[in-house]
Amino acid sequence: MAAWWVCATCGVEHASRPDVCAICDDERQWVPEQGQRWTTLDELTAAGTRVVVDELEPGLLGLRAEPAVGIGPTTKVVVTPQGSLLWDPLGFVDDEAVAAVLAHGPVVAVVASHPHMFGVQVEWSRRLGGVPVLVSDADASWVQRPDPVIETWSGEREVLPGVVLSQPGGHFPGSAVVHWAAGAEGRGVLLAGDTIMANPDRRSVSFMRSYPNRLPLSGAVALRVAEHVAGRPFERLYNNFDGVIPAGARSVVLASAERHAAWVRGDFDHLT
Ligand SMILES: [Zn+2]
Ligand SMILES: [Zn+2]
Repeated sequence: MAAWWVCATCGVEHASRPDVCAICDDERQWVPEQGQRWTTLDELTAAGTRVVVDELEPGLLGLRAEPAVGIGPTTKVVVTPQGSLLWDPLGFVDDEAVAAVLAHGPVVAVVASHPHMFGVQVEWSRRLGGVPVLVSDADASWVQRPDPVIETWSGEREVLPGVVLSQPGGHFPGSAVVHWAAGAEGRGVLLAGDTIMANPDRRSVSFMRSYPNRLPLSGAVALRVAEHVAGRPFERLYNNFDGVIPAGARSVVLASAERHAAWVRGDFDHLT
């Protein structure tokens, strides 16, 4: 019998099986019509789940589970000469995935942008040698599998030279982003989690409390988030799925926040 479980809907590891996953039951997510379902790594492995590794750009790996686990995010691995950061860990891990990550160097920390992306973060840490799992202090109560490898943090942290975590908040109070100075050929990359969502048009972004349930943030918060990340230069933005703003991303974020604020303020009500 498994000692811990994975919520089949959100992919987050749990030390016990409550009637319903608190992360899914929150207004930002959903519980399936068929009800709560739990799975385990063994069950996922037996079903043929594996991790596919892509190089998104030099120094940045994308890891996705096939078939998808939970909401199907893409883990990012930022590779530097001093080690790697594993960002937004998948809800699945196996020995091949760990070997593929470690082939690029040691991992110094596992960090999720926010609770929807916790995945099997403690399990990733254990298999990577017990590296710290950093959880935003403001969102630590969402952890469902407590473990000594978890460290809370707030504000800003340079986890590797040129790789800085910070917390603009918004989607969750502790929602975090990564600024990677060497990304995009030295013009800078922002790994935005769900804090900032790259839209399908690839030239605008969204700021929402809930993406699946379409609950927007206020204009003031959208502007605050944009101003926070604009403090450092970045050319490209990746969210935690396949969304990318390939170029001019800092300007896109600032313009999108202005647009968001204008719409929720009512500037465009004559168009409705
Ligand atoms: Zn869940
Ligand atoms: Zn989210």
